[in-house]
Amino acid sequence: MQLSNRISQIQPSATLKVSGKAKQMIANGIDVINLGIGEPDFQTPDNIKQAAIAAIQTGKASFYTPAAGLPRLREAIANVTATDYGISVDQTNVAVTTGAKMALYGTFQAILNPGDGVLLPEPYWVSYAEQIKLAGGVPMGMPVTDGFKVTPELLEQALTAQVKVLLLNSPENPTGVIYEPAELQAIADWAEQHQIWVITDDIYGKLTYNGAKFTSIAALKDQLPTNMIVINGVSKTYSMTGWRIGYVVANSELIKALSAFLSHATGNPAAASQYAALEALTGLQDDAEMMRHAFEQRLNTLYPLLNAIPGFSLATKPQGAFYLFPDVADAQALTGIATTGEFVDQLLTEAHVAVVDGNAFGVDHHVRLSYATDLETLKNAVSRITEFMKTHT
Ligand code: PLP
Repeated sequence: MQLSNRISQIQPSATLKVSGKAKQMIANGIDVINLGIGEPDFQTPDNIKQAAIAAIQTGKASFYTPAAGLPRLREAIANVTATDYGISVDQTNVAVTTGAKMALYGTFQAILNPGDGVLLPEPYWVSYAEQIKLAGGVPMGMPVTDGFKVTPELLEQALTAQVKVLLLNSPENPTGVIYEPAELQAIADWAEQHQIWVITDDIYGKLTYNGAKFTSIAALKDQLPTNMIVINGVSKTYSMTGWRIGYVVANSELIKALSAFLSHATGNPAAASQYAALEALTGLQDDAEMMRHAFEQRLNTLYPLLNAIPGFSLATKPQGAFYLFPDVADAQALTGIATTGEFVDQLLTEAHVAVVDGNAFGVDHHVRLSYATDLETLKNAVSRITEFMKTHT
């Protein structure tokens, strides 16, 4: 019996793999600090949980909703996007999906033909490349500046007849980089000139720190340009990773096509989760702000500590998301550990700290650490890594 060629091209998610290994070690009684996974450590705020409980108890959550989501939720998403981005959109521009992952998956299915290229500025989030391949497309990793940004010049060099889409992620997983409006304008002009779709993954848009401001490339005009597709969701901002609600905001023709796809692929996302997301987006934002503030404090504590570890270097301080992506080339040289994969493995097995190999994001000699865990644990992780470096040099 043979599996399909399509599925044989797919690698399991590297972040889930490292996290699985760490969880296995923990199950075996080993005290592992897991900085591998991108998941807030907070409980979903209570008002959001209560909204889901009420939807279940009143029976509203028992039935299918339209495949593209509850009309009230689509309207709320349109309103939040219109306010935050200063663009006029309505619910015909919105589809609700089973997490932002499905928002991306459905979008690739809706716009890619076999062989179409998607430019992925490196480093890029692990699932993009695999999802593009599943849609028959070709992931095209491309180089960026030292500050981890693409520019029209770099895009021009990467442009071939195959390129149909550019994928931007700001604030970026794994670097925490945020693009400035002027930089986005230049990229938007380039995309418009070459008639390239731009998918902007804005899932970390509300997690910005120390006064940094997030602007989406989709927010530069009063209207949403037809070539721009916004991916967003509630998982990270509201600590709702388990609820699986994401969404796409795009031109209504694409949304119609995507809705047809969703109606066959997933049907509607869980109704109770949709009621919870409605409360998340329209209810009090105090808990979301409390969590954002906690991430900010963790970043401000962890960044200097990590930079002080011999061989670890972070040229620029992240401005958003909840990851650090240090260059560990010197750490490898100091310890004589040849590959970043081995470095990550030894950190896990000897120091009991789980981080992700930068190669999973298309960039060698880097590791990704998530600071979506409490301050004490983060400080403890730094001590363990420091000790590891001492014993190996
Ligand atoms: N996009 C990026 C950049 C992410 O880091 C993640 C989650 O790790 C997602 C999308 C997927 O989010 P969700 O959990 O809503 O599917």
